[in-house]
Amino acid sequence: MELLKLQDIGKIYVSEGNVSVGIRGVNLSFDKGEFVAVTGKSGSGKSTLLNVISGMDTYEEGEMLVCGEPTSHFMQPEWEAYREEYISFIFQDYNIIESFTVLQNVELALMNIDDKKERRRRALELINRVGLSSHINQKGSKLSGGQKQRTVIARALAKDSPIILADEPTGNLDPHRSLEIMTLLERINQMGTTTLVVTHEKELVNRFAKRVVSIEEGRMVSDWTGGYYHT
Ligand code: ADP
Ligand code: MG
Repeated sequence: MELLKLQDIGKIYVSEGNVSVGIRGVNLSFDKGEFVAVTGKSGSGKSTLLNVISGMDTYEEGEMLVCGEPTSHFMQPEWEAYREEYISFIFQDYNIIESFTVLQNVELALMNIDDKKERRRRALELINRVGLSSHINQKGSKLSGGQKQRTVIARALAKDSPIILADEPTGNLDPHRSLEIMTLLERINQMGTTTLVVTHEKELVNRFAKRVVSIEEGRMVSDWTGGYYHT
């Protein structure tokens, strides 16, 4: 059974009397362990798609199934439980606490571990995995973009959720750092985490994605798997 299945999903935004389509008629399925790039022009609905999948945005049309279970009837508490169990979200603008050190930021994501020593041990292990061991005591504000994003990824790893959603995680990084972050995401994916990455950087798409979903004006226009990706 698919981990996620979107059936004819539509999200419409209404603000100040204006109605705009976020996404419309989207049909997609994701299996455990897939690595998927989501591409499309600015304003095409990429963030909307990730926000709907993450349960941060509700949807008005269609049905999203999680391990076969419908979600259209979910209320706030059910969405919160879903996010807690399934989702780690990585944004473009590194959501870490600037006044906290790398270690403190990662430990914050491990508060479910009561034992302080064990929490620290686990935090150090995750920091090591993202290659930040030499920066554990550096404040968030003193980190480079790539280092901030690594800290965010360490926190995502702390959650150990089955789905990682990354919305333009390399949008503010130079090509070299972008490659490093994508390599890190790929490594996490290889351990079985379903990974959806929004990016319009063709080179990254070609190098990493095994599947590419393209969106135009809220509609899915292609869902490509295998081979080399051209547009
Ligand atoms: P992308 O991430 O591909 O740039 P978005 O998903 O952010 O695109 O936006 C898709 C469409 O939905 C755009 O027309 C955008 O203006 C609209 N939209 C997105 N978020 C909101 C919002 N909170 N309120 C109103 N309209 C929105
Ligand atoms: Mg966006």
